[in-house]
Amino acid sequence: MEEGNLIKELFIPDEEKAFEALMGMRWPEGVYCPRCKSHNLQKRGIRGVSQRYSCNDCELNFNDFTGTIFANKNMSLGEMFYILHNIDVESVKRLSEELERDWSTVNGLVKDFKRNLAENDGDPILEKWK
Ligand SMILES: [Zn+2]
Repeated sequence: MEEGNLIKELFIPDEEKAFEALMGMRWPEGVYCPRCKSHNLQKRGIRGVSQRYSCNDCELNFNDFTGTIFANKNMSLGEMFYILHNIDVESVKRLSEELERDWSTVNGLVKDFKRNLAENDGDPILEKWK
């Protein structure tokens, strides 16, 4: 039997499921503007799995990841969930081997997540520390 990547197969949720979970956490009462809290929004198309919006009240453009620690990251949401879950128990080296990612890519993400988890007063995942 060929040795596949069991970690990825068993523990990384597929992107749609991961995204659904994030949406349930982020927008339990519907999508609103992160700046002015308005629900008066216009949909602006989809990029990847994420919907883009513009706010009719303050004209902010944003997407489903804006303002979360997952915004502007070059990795799948499922992989980022895995890293978050194991951030305190696994080394960057091991995480990067398991995910078959560059050490530096994983290291950058882990540093960013740790800083955010340590310094954020609000929700550490849904409100990115600036
Ligand atoms: Zn707005």
